[in-house]
Amino acid sequence: MSRVNSYDVVVIGAGSIGCSTADHLADDNDVLVLEKGQLDESASANASAFISDWWYFLEGEYIPGVTEKIREYFHGLETTSDFEFHDQPFISLVDEGERDSPKTEKMRENAEKIPGITYFDAKELASMYPDVLNLDGFAGGIVDTEAGYVEPGSYLRAMKQRAEVKGAVFEFGTEVEEIETADGQIDHVTTTSGDEIHCDSVVVAAGTHTESLVSKFTNLPVRPFVICAAEVKGDPSFSGSVPTTSGRGTLIGPNTAGNLLVGDEYWIEDLDRIPQEFPEEAKEKIAGLLPQLFTGFDGELEYVEDGEHHCPEGITITPDQIPVIDEVGGVDELVVADGSRGAVSLAPVIAVAVQSLLTGSKTKFSMERFAVDRFDLENPEYDLPMITEPRS
Ligand SMILES: Cc1cc2nc3c(=O)[nH]c(=O)nc-3n(C[C@H](O)[C@H](O)[C@H](O)COP(=O)(O)OP(=O)(O)OC[C@H]3O[C@@H](n4cnc5c(N)ncnc54)[C@H](O)[C@@H]3O)c2cc1C
Repeated sequence: MSRVNSYDVVVIGAGSIGCSTADHLADDNDVLVLEKGQLDESASANASAFISDWWYFLEGEYIPGVTEKIREYFHGLETTSDFEFHDQPFISLVDEGERDSPKTEKMRENAEKIPGITYFDAKELASMYPDVLNLDGFAGGIVDTEAGYVEPGSYLRAMKQRAEVKGAVFEFGTEVEEIETADGQIDHVTTTSGDEIHCDSVVVAAGTHTESLVSKFTNLPVRPFVICAAEVKGDPSFSGSVPTTSGRGTLIGPNTAGNLLVGDEYWIEDLDRIPQEFPEEAKEKIAGLLPQLFTGFDGELEYVEDGEHHCPEGITITPDQIPVIDEVGGVDELVVADGSRGAVSLAPVIAVAVQSLLTGSKTKFSMERFAVDRFDLENPEYDLPMITEPRS
């Protein structure tokens, strides 16, 4: 059965990238978002949702305009529905041995270009957060004083609501099966229920399903992984007083209840068998790491019942953890946006990049940073230090 309606853009997936892209494109386009599940089922809806410029914090790389866009976008959403941005500084601790490393040098140099991001030595951090951080063995840390966290469901709802006000249509429970082209142009998408929906452009923001949706056009340099996350019992006073802190391969921060969100990452071997529980080996790892960052956690950790965050379909990552945002397969206006570290935070920037590909609008950053061909697509095998082998 074919539908008569046609759209300027079909966005596949209503995670944070899909919703933000719809919000950005709906100003000037008829946008249809097709989502196979519901708004609260994606990886985005289940994230811890600490908000900062994770691309900068990976390697200290400065991509112009990114941090500013994140802050402007999240604060701009505060006028919609029940959305609230909770201020919570983020600290990336620097080990003594890393004090003069090229990465630390680069982070310190670039911090000067980004308002609100500053390097503090351990003594300064101790006076900023008395009796909170355990700074033994750390030289200091890079602090984003304008970081925060959000409740991810309210974030997705706020973006959807704003896109709908501009005329975007969201359809849930509709799974895209194929993207069809004619003469190197997008023609239509077909759904699993047999509908054909005609459109000029397609944005594929389907998380771990992006790769299979575009496999007939290109190889994507992405690998699926799962973040298993849980809550360690904290104290209501932690919310607002304890910063989100990363160091020695982990990232831990409090939520509104003052419980500490902890996590561990595993490669996914089989998309039909993704672990959802918080595994014992993660508990052992956190028991070793948490007291290295925060004071007061030397005893046995108490986990909050039902505090596990589920990541039912996993998420994706490229070898440099910066997304692919590009037209692929030589097809005009077939755009992929996938594979980013921290895409809840970075979705508004990714949306600006997608918008630029489809409308020719200017960006403050170079689009080459996101090109699919920056990787060797013939040899897609890679590892990342913080992601562990799949659990047997
Ligand atoms: C536990 C956890 C903690 C995290 N913490 C943070 C954090 O603190 N900060 C941060 O910035 N990020 C965090 N992340 C990472 C972040 O969640 C991901 O980077 C982000 O959700 C990816 O967004 P996305 O839109 O690409 O994909 P998704 O959120 O996975 O959305 C893709 C959507 O596409 C839909 N879809 C798939 N196939 C089809 C199809 N064929 N047709 C129609 N729809 C389809 C899916 O149902 C899904 O809703 C965390 C993730 C987890 C799991």
